[in-house]
Amino acid sequence: SIPLGYFGGIGLASKNGILFKGSNFLDVMTKVNAVVMDKTGTLTKGVFEVQKVVGNNFEEKELVLLAAAIESKSTHPIALAIVRYAGDVLNGLKIENVEEVSGHGLKGIINGKTVLAGNTKLLQKHGITYDSAIDNEADTIVALAVEGSYAGYITIADEIKEDAKQAIADMHGLNILTVMLSGDKQSVVDKVAGLLGIDQAFGNLLPEDKVSRTAALKKEGKHIAFVGDGVNDAPVVALADAGIAMGGLGSDATIETADIVIQNDQPSKIVTAIKIGKLTRNIVW
Ligand code: ADP
Ligand code: MG
Repeated sequence: SIPLGYFGGIGLASKNGILFKGSNFLDVMTKVNAVVMDKTGTLTKGVFEVQKVVGNNFEEKELVLLAAAIESKSTHPIALAIVRYAGDVLNGLKIENVEEVSGHGLKGIINGKTVLAGNTKLLQKHGITYDSAIDNEADTIVALAVEGSYAGYITIADEIKEDAKQAIADMHGLNILTVMLSGDKQSVVDKVAGLLGIDQAFGNLLPEDKVSRTAALKKEGKHIAFVGDGVNDAPVVALADAGIAMGGLGSDATIETADIVIQNDQPSKIVTAIKIGKLTRNIVW
């Protein structure tokens, strides 16, 4: 039989907007000594805003139009920002064969022309040379290519969640190692990690790199809680001792795979979940 304390723990968690999918995860949370987190949507709001548009042999307006056309087929937070910025311009455009290249961006055909929109890794993958100014941008960038030629870039920025810094400090107070894994560029990752005081931060990661980094920590004997929101995060959520999904912004796949769901997306709830686990253990034993 399951001790009463577990029901109390799950109930208390649920009152705090934290959904435990099994009472065993209350125990797992008490043992966590490394919290591994995605950046976008987990520590940052995941609501990007376009900052700047830089065309290369393309008018700004034309570049934004092409970017919005291809991004209209994606639900990535980056895509939503660009489509919102472009406004009501997509009528009459022929948008075909848009594919999401995981960790890179998008490829598709707009009005008969092949368009790429993504990070510099995507351009490199297609052998497209680009303006080095891109590498000097501190913000997240979406680079564009049309018919195999570099066409310019758009910079976008995100905001850190209000309670993220305190949540990281509280984790450190519990002797927990904090790690951030992101597909975003290293300069953006370093900036966020610095502002939050995160112990280790790795950028430019593909979904499979997030898995191997997490597996390496596990091999070192770490008890890992992984927190993510994106569809690409589902494999790491599955691998971690406790897989946690941000429920508000999260993709269905990640929420489905998760052991614990944080309904209001606040990073401080990770700490709350650990504390409720510990409280429950004290009642059970
Ligand atoms: P993360 O959530 O850690 O940023 P993702 O795997 O979702 O990781 O994305 C990694 C990177 O791939 C993004 O930072 C971006 O550079 C690029 N990318 C992914 N999807 C898109 C998209 N729809 N449009 C442009 N770039 C994208
Ligand atoms: Mg993500």
